[in-house]
Amino acid sequence: MRGRIFAAFVIFSAVVLALLWLSQTVFMDGLYKSVRLSELERCADSLAEADIRELEESAHSLSDKYNICITVYRIERGQGSAIVSAHIDGGCFIHNLTPETVHNDTLLTRLYKEALGSGTDGYMENVSLPGETDTDSFVGDILFSRVVTHGAVEYMLLFNTEIYPLDSTVSTMRMMLIYISVILVIIAAVMSVILAGRMSSPVRRMSREAARLALGDYSVSFDGGSVRELSELSDALNHAAVELSGLDRMQKDLIANVSHDLRTPLTLISGYSEVMRDIPGEMNAENMQMIIDETSRLTSMVNDMLDMSRFISGRYEFDMRPFSITEAVRESAERYSRLCASDGYVIDFECDADVSVIGDRASVIRVIYNLLGNAVSYTGEDKRVTVRQSVADGYCRIEVTDSGRGIPEDELPLIWERYYRGDSFHKRSVSGSGLGLSIVKNILAAHKARFGVRSKVGHGSTFWFELPLPFC
Ligand code: ADP
Repeated sequence: MRGRIFAAFVIFSAVVLALLWLSQTVFMDGLYKSVRLSELERCADSLAEADIRELEESAHSLSDKYNICITVYRIERGQGSAIVSAHIDGGCFIHNLTPETVHNDTLLTRLYKEALGSGTDGYMENVSLPGETDTDSFVGDILFSRVVTHGAVEYMLLFNTEIYPLDSTVSTMRMMLIYISVILVIIAAVMSVILAGRMSSPVRRMSREAARLALGDYSVSFDGGSVRELSELSDALNHAAVELSGLDRMQKDLIANVSHDLRTPLTLISGYSEVMRDIPGEMNAENMQMIIDETSRLTSMVNDMLDMSRFISGRYEFDMRPFSITEAVRESAERYSRLCASDGYVIDFECDADVSVIGDRASVIRVIYNLLGNAVSYTGEDKRVTVRQSVADGYCRIEVTDSGRGIPEDELPLIWERYYRGDSFHKRSVSGSGLGLSIVKNILAAHKARFGVRSKVGHGSTFWFELPLPFC
């Protein structure tokens, strides 16, 4: 990571420097010349518009303002004579020329002809005096001419400026750029080390913690440091660790609960069988019934587990058709009532109308049985459970109310989870695997039913669900 960040910094610095270099050196000359040329054009415009009597004054002020040399020639009968001359300190190319006729084949003649020929301005660059080479001291000068007419008289405005200072500026800049490049590379190296350290050390720490988590150590704590993305990742991993540890605890609880619940009936069955085999006279109907009851309890527990796995894998099939829910609830309540009447339990059924709904009858009866089973298991001393059916707003509402210990508020969202079991003791007659309400939830969700629970600790609970009436 450190190497990559360093490489990214170096590439970034190199691109910035290359752009600076290009703009400062390669394009600088052209840019400077075009700026100078447009200044010369502006000067020519001003001087061309100036009154002929103020020509001298205008030329001097323009020369001072733009730091250029100006000469104005009056052209008469093919002869050019300088009438205005404004020059900067140190002189320049045109002020070292001797007066000449502009119609001869001289430098001034060429500028005159060029200005006339193009209809606009004459321009020359890197000029040298006749007989001198390009390397002479005046190389780098720009000459600019314009021919104007005042009355019947022609004038040639001649401007001269230097572009020498640019070379030294460019080489100074080159030096500066070299220094800046070195400084930038050093800064890039230092910053990449700091940044890489800030990013890679939390990543290393987190991967160490992840390895511990993979080995089942849920006490891990991920710390993403101050980098936002890493701290978000560490939050997610901490959350995952908490969830995993909960899942692990739940799984252990489940194995303990299920094995306990399975062992109890199995022990009873094997105990009673041995007694019936070994002790004469114990082979009676009562003992046989005990074995049958425990076997059916085992069967229903195993069926719950199988159904749950079908819900999870989406293989549970519902046979949806209209059926009388009033009749189904009444039958279930009566049957359950008969089943536990010997233990003193009373199940009341109240209903305001006979209605039908569309659904899987067997599954809805299963929901009622599960709710009744829990209500009987947890109801209070009065051993009363009430089942109520009411119709309102196009829904048939079923409520199962007990007068038991109630459910603490923080447990309410959890009771619908698979394998969740509250801390309360379970009475043997309905001891379950913590799957009952989860099965209820899955069945009701498949019927698009609304469902829920109202409960107050010490005052009992009311579990309810509402199925839509088909013809409302
Ligand atoms: P099980 O009854 O097999 O434990 P359930 O899924 O049916 O599993 O119920 C989950 C938990 O919800 C129970 O362990 C219990 O704590 C709580 N519970 C369910 N019904 C009632 C009730 N009527 N009164 C109090 N607690 C209840």
